[in-house]
Amino acid sequence: MLAPFFTTPLTITSQFSFCGLPLRLDSYAGCAFSCTFCFARVRGGNSFGDVVRAADSAKLDRIFRSVFEEDDTSGGMVRQFLRRRVPIHFGGMSDPFQPAELRYRVTESFLQALARYRYPTVLSTRSKMVACEPYINLLKQLGNVVVQFSFCSSRDEVAALFEPYSTSPSNLLGVMSTLAREGIAVTCRWQPYIPGVSEPAEEFVSRMSSVGCRHVALEHLKIPIERSHPLWGKLTKSAGRDFYSEYKSLNALRDGREYVLPPQAKLPTIREVARAVRTRGMTFGAADNEFQYLSDTGCCCSGVDQFPGFENWFRCQIGCAVREGFGKRITYGSVSRHWAPIGSLDRFLNSRSRLSGRTELSGSLHDHLRARWNSPKAPGSPASFYGVVPTAEITSAGNKVYVWDSKILTALGDLKVSAGGL
Ligand code: SF4
Repeated sequence: MLAPFFTTPLTITSQFSFCGLPLRLDSYAGCAFSCTFCFARVRGGNSFGDVVRAADSAKLDRIFRSVFEEDDTSGGMVRQFLRRRVPIHFGGMSDPFQPAELRYRVTESFLQALARYRYPTVLSTRSKMVACEPYINLLKQLGNVVVQFSFCSSRDEVAALFEPYSTSPSNLLGVMSTLAREGIAVTCRWQPYIPGVSEPAEEFVSRMSSVGCRHVALEHLKIPIERSHPLWGKLTKSAGRDFYSEYKSLNALRDGREYVLPPQAKLPTIREVARAVRTRGMTFGAADNEFQYLSDTGCCCSGVDQFPGFENWFRCQIGCAVREGFGKRITYGSVSRHWAPIGSLDRFLNSRSRLSGRTELSGSLHDHLRARWNSPKAPGSPASFYGVVPTAEITSAGNKVYVWDSKILTALGDLKVSAGGL
């Protein structure tokens, strides 16, 4: 069922405090691929897999025209990001090439607008449609583009259980190869890596390497805290396993509305995948948030900053400061030295996260970053990264100083290759 329109296709992600790609573009709200592990899709009042709403296909073009051709100097935060050409992540909440695209062509219109301004874009998909015309031609016109393919497995029989409506891995690998031959940068995200189900690292990584993939990011499966969640039955049935009990027995930690494996349980797989990726000359991205600093390039886990056109990825965030301070004192000065948009971020956040109204603060980006920085237990604070610990020291500007746990630092030594790309 499809109901028109959804009105905010271009917005700022709630992950702004640690993400190098905070501008999120979606051509559809809701995703008919209905992957069994995609819990975020059914939160916030969304129901399970039934409604897909198309964006106004002319909206992005209107925004670009006013920003780039009409001397629009308005202070809107999204517009400030656009004027600076901070890369857009297209497909953050829904697949741009889901079946609705065959009828509504919103993705095609958005790609036309992006190509007109050669706007740096990271496009995420699990669909073979990306290699069809007119899309492949639009991607070539756009030039400044990285296509990021997501997999839970490179084995068709496994993917068929967990993501039955997206393109099969074998088919998707062929699509990656086609795009790479056409000179389009292709990367992949092993998301989610499903413990005990996904194949060994060597098998997955060698398949990606064989089709021209340049970067592999890894993120472990998260499970929702509510056992009554509508996707629980599907996931458990697909795997023939009780992930809830398994995660509990591994001392899973609560992260917002999800359970995640503890860092120690993830490290062996991270080590194995990073080694396999680097051995083949690709770059590795650590997409589990607490390990983001182990990524080989500066732009969080995405790896896009290695490609021309993506130089203006967003650096004024805590993830970047932790990476920059690997093995050293971590101070807020590492955040504040980078460009930031002015104005209030509050309107992009849910009511519980807003600062204006319930505090004296206006809700600027720095207000939000400092609030997390100075509350070590807050999600996204420096202490949420594995091995980072708060000290009692406060700088003259009133911000906490963090350091590294020396034992953890030693244990991670072989995994961290550089702090390049900052
Ligand atoms: S394709 Fe992506 S957005 Fe759509 S259901 Fe699957 S994981 Fe979620």
